[in-house]
Amino acid sequence: MLRQAAEGVLIHESEFCQSNAVVVHGRAGVLLIDPGILGHEMAALANDLRELGQPVVAGFSTHPHWDHLLWHARLGAAPRYGTARCAATARDRLSDAGAKARVAQLMPPDIAEQVPLDLLGLITGLPAETTQIPWDGPQVRIIEHQAHAPGHAALLIEERGVLVAGDMLSDVLIPMLDLNDTADPIEDYLAALRLLESAAGDVDVVVPGHGSIGGADQVHARIDQDRAYVHALRDTHVPSDPRIGPSAKDGWDWVAGVHEGQLQRLAQRSERDGTPG
Ligand SMILES: [Zn+2]
Repeated sequence: MLRQAAEGVLIHESEFCQSNAVVVHGRAGVLLIDPGILGHEMAALANDLRELGQPVVAGFSTHPHWDHLLWHARLGAAPRYGTARCAATARDRLSDAGAKARVAQLMPPDIAEQVPLDLLGLITGLPAETTQIPWDGPQVRIIEHQAHAPGHAALLIEERGVLVAGDMLSDVLIPMLDLNDTADPIEDYLAALRLLESAAGDVDVVVPGHGSIGGADQVHARIDQDRAYVHALRDTHVPSDPRIGPSAKDGWDWVAGVHEGQLQRLAQRSERDGTPG
């Protein structure tokens, strides 16, 4: 079921991890950002769009993690974009014969069979320095940074006052650092938050990759909340973050484990490098 987040911007929320697919109305069809997770959900979305007479004319993946790289044949053959680094990373990680089996291992076993992997990661990289998604619709600004995953992009639909944040600014997921690909994951994350903050002036609606859509009052509150968490990691303080521990929302108690895992990985890195983070 699609629901409106702002004029001309609709959201479909998946049963899996409150993943948000975003539909943006253009002149001859829609832009579909992070299409969804389960096959039947994406097929239903394709049907809804067909009934609305709105073909998908472009796709976009915010970052190269499997839950943002999916597609369903019924959504059609529109170009699917990502940043150049996103596309290159997806290609590198998915090019070998065992890749899809590896991805299936990352999923909870009860959903693995419901996730279609045929069209996983077939992303066209937009040339580096591309600032707008090339399509016939409201301008969608690409805000690329290196937090969470290589070539991660937030998207700003200025005319609609919507910030599509990818896997940041969530009310349920803590900042998940990219501990594999960058030399300074903490500073990269803080730099990305500064970028979002500088772009968020007129944003009325923030759409995280997972979790609840936030209104105007949430935009800066979530930036501050993510920054406080990352500062706590940096300064080796215990974060007081409502997303971890007993205050976590129903079904999200596993986020505390993600936090513990990050603490361990950061400690290992600083032992290895002699540097914090
Ligand atoms: Zn995600």
